[in-house]
Amino acid sequence: MDNVLQMAAEHARAQEATAIHKITMRIGDMSGVSIDALTFAFDVLARDTMAAGAELLIEPVKARCRCKACAAEFTPDSPITTCPGCGAPGATLIEGREIELTSMEVS
Ligand SMILES: [Zn+2]
Repeated sequence: MDNVLQMAAEHARAQEATAIHKITMRIGDMSGVSIDALTFAFDVLARDTMAAGAELLIEPVKARCRCKACAAEFTPDSPITTCPGCGAPGATLIEGREIELTSMEVS
């Protein structure tokens, strides 16, 4: 979360802004980040920064896997998953680990 605020502050400074009003992020299902915890931490950590009072919008990203055997794409229902098409284990996670800053409103 510190990193997110740092990233946001760097973006804001690059645009010669002095305040951050809104931050939009993409958080993956498998990123290990709890959206509730993130929202709470943001309010606390942002308090003494240029992001104080900023709105945090989070776009959750559903996990997606691709089967190594048949290349089928599917949404895993647990971290250890088998392909629903061919039953092969060990699919590759292609989406769902995101912790990304997607947009910001500054002034
Ligand atoms: Zn498969």
